[in-house]
Amino acid sequence: DIVLLNQSYVSRQDAKVDIEDRGYQFGDGIYEVIRVYGGQVFLMDQHLERLKRSAAEIQLKLSLSLPELRQRLLDLVERTDLAEGMIYVQLTRGVAPRYHGFPTPEVEAQLVAYTKRMERPLKQQHEGVKAALVDDIRWLRCDIKTVNLLPNVLAKQKATENGAFEAIQHRNGTVTEGSSSNVFMVKQGVLYTHPATNLILNGITRQYIIDLCTKLNFTLHEQTFSVNDLLQADEVFITSTTSEIIPIVQVDEQTIGNGQRGQITQELQQAFDQQISKLRQS
Ligand code: PLP
Repeated sequence: DIVLLNQSYVSRQDAKVDIEDRGYQFGDGIYEVIRVYGGQVFLMDQHLERLKRSAAEIQLKLSLSLPELRQRLLDLVERTDLAEGMIYVQLTRGVAPRYHGFPTPEVEAQLVAYTKRMERPLKQQHEGVKAALVDDIRWLRCDIKTVNLLPNVLAKQKATENGAFEAIQHRNGTVTEGSSSNVFMVKQGVLYTHPATNLILNGITRQYIIDLCTKLNFTLHEQTFSVNDLLQADEVFITSTTSEIIPIVQVDEQTIGNGQRGQITQELQQAFDQQISKLRQS
């Protein structure tokens, strides 16, 4: 398999990380996961804009322009002959002797990108999955898509140990988001999701679903809701680049709604599917 490493395309076994890479030592880096359907990259510009924002927020200088990066990622999709799957792209603050402050003199950011074949999680999208509630123990800049994912790792592991597909995090009883997804709930025909503040990652899928809601004339409030609201919801679903829209039919021991995918969730999934079909045909 071919991997993009800074300026070059190299084979997977030749792509090595230096032991003093700041991503490796400090989690000092950012990333994106971008979906590919039928060889077409989905929402590429939105992902690249978010990557640029993440870079700016951690004062990381991109070593190339967004159009250049865009072209390299498109090349990578072609070179790896990717039809169905995802692109992972990561930038770290480079390789320098270990010291917490930024390297002086400055060093080049390290860029890595690779692709991975992947099917859509159709079974989970149809049947729904279980989620587990966990305390949100993360820092106060969850809006930055950093590779510093230890709290997310621990949350997901807790979910797995409880037989759940995803963790739903909450801060003092307010639902924030999943370990790697955003959370929506439906109550009496109205949708709710946490506002795009510093306490969540503003998911590209989240934003896409909010736009779909406008198109479908659904009422959606970007408003916080409590764990109790979540447990009493008619429908709950998570969104992410790889999950798309997956219904949550159980939270811990509580069944959500009638324990099956809800009506509004299903309509959003259908609208999402239509967009993907269009992209495949383009
Ligand atoms: N929230 C967190 C913490 C995430 O890690 C992710 C994606 O991995 C999301 C939300 C969903 O974001 P997106 O829809 O851009 O994939």
